[in-house]
Amino acid sequence: MIQITLPDGTVKDFQKGSTPMDVAKNISEGFARNVISAKFNDITVESSTPLTENGNLVLFTFNDEEGKKTFWHSSAHVLAQAITSFYPDVKLTIGPAIENGYYYDVDLGDNIISDKDFKAIEQKMLELARGKHEFKMREVSKEDALNFYKSQNNEYKVELIENLEDGEITFCDHSDFTDLCRGGHIPNTGIIKAVKVMSVAGAYWRGDEKNNQLTRIYGVSFPKQKMLTEYLALLEEAKKRDHRKLGKELELFAFSTKVGQGLPLWLPKGAALRERLENFLKKAQKKAGYEMVMTPHIGQKELYVTSGHYAKYGEDSFQPIHTPKEDEEFFLKPMNCPHHCEIYNNKPYSYKELPKRFAEFGTVYRYEQSGELHGLTRVRGFTQDDAHIFCTPDQLDTEFKEVIDLVLYVFKSLSFENFTAQVSLRDKEKSDKYIGSDENWEKAENAIINAAKEKGLDYVVEYGEAAFYGPKLDFMVKDALGRSWQLGTIQVDYNLPERFDLNYKGADNQLHRPVMIHRAPFGSMERFIAVLIEHTGGKFPLWLTPEQVIILPISEKYQKYAENVLHLLENSEIRALIDDRSEKTGRKIRDAELNKVPFMLIVGEQEEESGTVSVRKQGDGDMGTLTISEFISYINKEINSTLKQF
Ligand SMILES: [Zn+2]
Ligand SMILES: [Zn+2]
Repeated sequence: MIQITLPDGTVKDFQKGSTPMDVAKNISEGFARNVISAKFNDITVESSTPLTENGNLVLFTFNDEEGKKTFWHSSAHVLAQAITSFYPDVKLTIGPAIENGYYYDVDLGDNIISDKDFKAIEQKMLELARGKHEFKMREVSKEDALNFYKSQNNEYKVELIENLEDGEITFCDHSDFTDLCRGGHIPNTGIIKAVKVMSVAGAYWRGDEKNNQLTRIYGVSFPKQKMLTEYLALLEEAKKRDHRKLGKELELFAFSTKVGQGLPLWLPKGAALRERLENFLKKAQKKAGYEMVMTPHIGQKELYVTSGHYAKYGEDSFQPIHTPKEDEEFFLKPMNCPHHCEIYNNKPYSYKELPKRFAEFGTVYRYEQSGELHGLTRVRGFTQDDAHIFCTPDQLDTEFKEVIDLVLYVFKSLSFENFTAQVSLRDKEKSDKYIGSDENWEKAENAIINAAKEKGLDYVVEYGEAAFYGPKLDFMVKDALGRSWQLGTIQVDYNLPERFDLNYKGADNQLHRPVMIHRAPFGSMERFIAVLIEHTGGKFPLWLTPEQVIILPISEKYQKYAENVLHLLENSEIRALIDDRSEKTGRKIRDAELNKVPFMLIVGEQEEESGTVSVRKQGDGDMGTLTISEFISYINKEINSTLKQF
């Protein structure tokens, strides 16, 4: 007998040689039908692998990330089988699972696969899947494995096998198809019920452009047709909300090849929106005791050698800038922290003056390969809503709570209701990996956990995920489409105060090291605005949106009255404009709807005579007629309901 421990702690006895599927069936037949993969003592196994020793078993369904990966990787085998049936001379290379599905890189020789072939490939895959073929792993000697692929003239698999040790090589068979594979499959092909070939792209063997160009075929698959339908609908919606598309339509930002890749240009409406976001945070920060600072966009090499960023960003980053005469060496600023440390160092502090909280909307530059750039989410220059708090170890507790309050205020004001937090702590068994005393780490870790608890955060604790210089708290928000984004972060740092020799005079008249907290509720303005655009579909909270009101005179005759309305709105600090084009009112309404202007005020003869406006709410339609002052108090109430004071 062997003892199997399940994740909930229950221990059960099983016959030696029982499989994960046997264990699943022992739990319940219904559960077993959904089990698709397993991990035994932290090693991925097949659900049919005989277990021969005591150990911990985790069973996965499609709802688990591990389960999905196994499902998609197994589907890649079926895709390869289908491709081979159409192109018998195809040379297969690798076929991993990825975040949303899987791909297979193949050398098609002179053949080409295009969109037109997708349907046939999908049908073939489903036909093969219906055969309910089991995935079976077997060990092969290096010699046999090499001979197998040499006989197929597949130099790619031969190269892969040559880099493996004899004794660790396995093949996976299902139906009449064999592939070199490390393992981790679903029980049989029959549970693949829905497949979709998503796209094809070129890819170099081993990612090296000196190698052969291969065809990468992307696919996704599900255990239910309904799941595929929902997934495709989600993709469709995501496409509509793509911040690159909406950013252009709403005239928020642009890119210019002349200026350079990955360097966003903020258009007037986008710049105004960003400024409003910055002012919103500045106002809250001021109340929370932050002081604004400003620092240059470049710094001397020595600064980044001291901070350690040179070692991290130096070689793979933008290359240094040299002065013509003095031969000084500067770098574009990759982080604001070193500059802020020098601001702290500008004068001596006593413990009574701490904490110091220096905030800056600091623009930083980091080199990203051109292929990695993506809209506003991956750029080469971006602005962090950065701040650094310098405090005594005893102040950490309070500071952490206050930073969490600020982050929650930001999320709430911007309609991110759904978020979780991750507390990253050190791995206590590897304490030599971390800088700073045990006592200080203890203090900081407790401060973070206490703060997260007290603020009622939905958080998970990850051991060993802390940076070497301190523990941290990261926020993940879920957008309206259920996608997760990492946004705000709060990080404790024992390293930089040491490197920059920061100190303060304690009550004992001795010098002590302050603790540093890095924090950024938005993270980066660019990325945050991108996420906000996709979350809201461009329908920003009323307080933030570029234009809150558009006035639509039904003909030129009412231009004067429209201007009067505009002035009254502007006096109440409501952002409004007049659509004075000689278009029909219906057209003007349609355009305002498309531009997502929250309120339309239609004015004509009746309105002018009675000093009123006809109000339409974007997406909601007609709201009836209001006097101008009634409308102003209504919209102000609406604004205040989303934007509370910090
Ligand atoms: Zn496999
Ligand atoms: Zn920092």
